[in-house]
Amino acid sequence: MLVTGGNRGIGLAIAEAFAALGDQVAVTYRRDADLVPDGILPIQCDVTSTEDVDALFTTVEEKHGPVEVLVSNAGITEDGLIMRMSDDAWSSVLDANLTAAFRVARRASRNMLKARSGRMIFIASITAYTGLPGQVNYAASKSGLIGLSRSLAREFAPRGVTANLVLPGFVETEMTAKLPEARQKEIEGLIPLGRYGHAAEIAGAVTYLASDVAAYVTGSVLTVDGGASMGH
Ligand code: NDP
Repeated sequence: MLVTGGNRGIGLAIAEAFAALGDQVAVTYRRDADLVPDGILPIQCDVTSTEDVDALFTTVEEKHGPVEVLVSNAGITEDGLIMRMSDDAWSSVLDANLTAAFRVARRASRNMLKARSGRMIFIASITAYTGLPGQVNYAASKSGLIGLSRSLAREFAPRGVTANLVLPGFVETEMTAKLPEARQKEIEGLIPLGRYGHAAEIAGAVTYLASDVAAYVTGSVLTVDGGASMGH
C-alpha cells in the first residue's frame, strides 16, 4: 500500500497503522526520509509532478508489487483572506491537494482496474463542507475531492475498485500547530468532544475503508471530527 505525504503527521500515522497490520507500506517524502521508521519504504516524490508520480509507482511496483491500497493524503495550506490571496497561493494549493490526487489516482487505476480490485482513499477536510475564513483555496481543493472520489467510485464500481473519502476535523499535527494559539483555543471550543483529534484516530478510519469488511462501501464520506461538522 502507498500513502502520499506519509513521512509525518496524519500520513505517517496511516502508514504505521497499515504496517502494524502486516502490510507492505511505501510513503512519499520530499525532504525528510529520516522521519520514516524502519519497515516503511520512503520514496522521494513531489506529487505536483506527473513525472515524479510515475516514477513513484514504478518504484513501488518493483519493490512491493502493484499498489492495492492508495491513500492520497499529501496536502498543504497557504491561508489568507481572498483580497490579499495571490494567484500562486490559489494554484499551488489546488495543485498539491486536488490535482495531485487526480495524478496518483490515474496512475494507480492502471493496475487496480486490470486486477479488478483495489481501494482508493482520499484525505479531505471538514472545511470541504463548512468552509473557513482565509481558506478559500484549501476548502475549494478539499470540496473538489468529493466530486473526484465520487466520480471515481462510479467509474470503478464495475471493476470492483472502491473510492472513498475521509474528512478529518482538527487534528494535532504540524499543520494545525501553525495556527495562532488563540485561534487554536477558539477552534477547540467549537468541537463537541472538546479536543483536537489524534492522527491515529484518522488512521483508524482509513484502515477500516481498506479492510475486507468495507468491501460494500464506496463513494462514501467518512467524517472524523469530534462532532465539529454535525449538520453538514
Ligand atoms: P502535515 O503538514 O503534518 O503533513 C503534510 C504532508 O504532506 C507531509 O508529509 C508533506 O511532505 C506532504 N506534502 C505536502 N505537499 C507535498 C507535495 N507537493 N508532494 C509530496 N508531499 C507533499 O499535514 P497533516 O498531517 O496535518 O495533513 C495531512 C492531510 O490531512 C492533508 O491533506 C491535510 O489537508 C489533511 N487534513 C489535516 C487536518 C489537520 O487538522 N491536521 C484536518 C483536515 C485535513 P513534506 O514533509 O515533504 O512537506
